[in-house]
Amino acid sequence: MSENKVANGQVVSMEYTLWVDGEILDTSDGQGPLQFLAGSGNIIPGLEREMLDMKIGDEKEVTVSPEDGYGEFDEEAFLEVPRKEFPEDMELEEGLELSVSDDEGNARYARIDSVETDVVRLDFNHPLAGAELKFKVKVVGLREPTAEEVEHGHVHEDGHHH
Ligand code: ZN
Repeated sequence: MSENKVANGQVVSMEYTLWVDGEILDTSDGQGPLQFLAGSGNIIPGLEREMLDMKIGDEKEVTVSPEDGYGEFDEEAFLEVPRKEFPEDMELEEGLELSVSDDEGNARYARIDSVETDVVRLDFNHPLAGAELKFKVKVVGLREPTAEEVEHGHVHEDGHHH
């Protein structure tokens, strides 16, 4: 395995900026590089694929389509829930983010799309569904993962375990 360029199984440190519709949505500026374990699905597939073979110091601009990013916007990914299923004292307002249990008991992320007298409409789309993502990335470090990182499938920064 080469340590000189981005390859599956390497821990990659990158500086990045993300734009959507010309606005900066996220950046590593001021918070330090992001580390990810390549090939483990830690970052969106469309970006990871474009970063393969980059060397330390390489910079690249990458445009990621919705299908390789956070998915297409799904008109069907809405659910209407009776207001009475929420705690009475809970303030329900448009845009509020919730974790909802599905039939199998898995937590699913949703946002309140609208609130009516009797019904709350939930939107299960990722907030960036349907968005074209523009990244500027710079590889600033590469290393071999620890055995534990390989086992967990993600990077342990600053020795923290989870
Ligand atoms: Zn872990």
